[in-house]
Amino acid sequence: KARTVLLATEKAFAAAAVTKIEEVLKEAKYTLKKLENYKSKDELLAAVSGVDAMIIRSDIVDASVLEKAEALKIVVRAGAGYDNIDLKACEAKKVTAMNTPGQNANAVAELVFGMMIVSARNNFDGSSGFELVNREIAFYGFGAVARAVHKLAQGFGMKSFAYDPYIPAEKIKEMGAEPVATVAGLFEHQYVSLHVPLTDETKASINKDLLSKMPKGGTLINTARVEVVHEQDMLDILKTRQDFCYLCDVAPKDIEPFKAAVGDKFGKRLIFTKKKMGAQTAEANDNAGVAAANQIVGFFEKGETRFSLKA
Ligand code: NAD
Repeated sequence: KARTVLLATEKAFAAAAVTKIEEVLKEAKYTLKKLENYKSKDELLAAVSGVDAMIIRSDIVDASVLEKAEALKIVVRAGAGYDNIDLKACEAKKVTAMNTPGQNANAVAELVFGMMIVSARNNFDGSSGFELVNREIAFYGFGAVARAVHKLAQGFGMKSFAYDPYIPAEKIKEMGAEPVATVAGLFEHQYVSLHVPLTDETKASINKDLLSKMPKGGTLINTARVEVVHEQDMLDILKTRQDFCYLCDVAPKDIEPFKAAVGDKFGKRLIFTKKKMGAQTAEANDNAGVAAANQIVGFFEKGETRFSLKA
């Protein structure tokens, strides 16, 4: 059956990625409908009618979108985090939801190291910095991104620690990292890098209690989601501990007090990106978009549901 796939991206993919998505769908004799750089939810609500599948990025798919998408069978988030999809609403409408895990892991990992080096070298201000070799990094969540960071950390001669209750300690050891038994245990190490999804359990979970346990030069790296960190607590720590650093891809919602707290140590004690940039590479764009298209074809043609998400 000829299917129609809607590519609904408020922030468009690079043109080269769209071409590759198009090729995958063309091969399957599917039609690609594009809604790129749309400005209002009404445009999305109008576009979803009649489509069999959707590829999205950070676009919101909630009950109101599903209501208008009467033919929709599957929605794929080209990327890892899927807090923008209402999974319960999908389940109620019997719409399969998927993400494309791992496709942007290396992009995020390289950004983590980029930020760590800029901070360790004092934002290249001419003063003496420090090296990453022999330093310790602890991962909160040990999925695709954390493992990619761990691989780079091994190359840098760092020692890795990880807390992930969903992965057996033995497996973490096999991968060359030291399992940590509690979240608090992570904060004994100089670098803590967040790689958990945003859930009720992780929301605002990085608080003053944990952050104040970090040793001298304690540095929190957040490429997960901004909401995982308790914003006011983080601000308090930056104000009271002159040695503390916060490197984030996902900038705090109210950034001005953060900038004021670090003053001229911006770029050293505080680094944030203009917008979420972890997965913003040509490679990650291509990988995630193409994976989404392939997963849609696999779903319809072979009943593949490997990356289905549970509500
Ligand atoms: P993943 O699904 O491969 O890994 C997530 C890991 O977290 C899993 O191993 C899971 O077992 C673990 N986990 C879940 N709940 C936990 C908890 N309460 N405590 C400890 N561990 C827990 O996902 P990923 O590709 O590694 O991405 C991780 C997160 O990073 C995503 O959910 C997304 O929000 C974010 N992300 C951001 C960017 C960016 O552009 N900055 C890009 C990719 C991913």
